[in-house]
Amino acid sequence: MTRQDNDATIKRLLGPSEPELLCDECFAELDRYVDLELDGEEADLRVPGMRAHLDACPACHEEYESLRQLAAEG
Ligand SMILES: [Zn+2]
Repeated sequence: MTRQDNDATIKRLLGPSEPELLCDECFAELDRYVDLELDGEEADLRVPGMRAHLDACPACHEEYESLRQLAAEG
């Protein structure tokens, strides 16, 4: 188990310190979030809860990484 997994587990046990998106909401906003980030916008302010969810949810984090990868290649 990596350190990141441990952090995510502890975070889940303690509960989110800020509002966290659900996976459905995360997927719906992920494109926009990545675009904002790449444009140098305040993505975390524009899409509150996204960062917390990505930190806690490996599936969505993987999707996020592949979107970043696609954007970098495009
Ligand atoms: Zn998720």
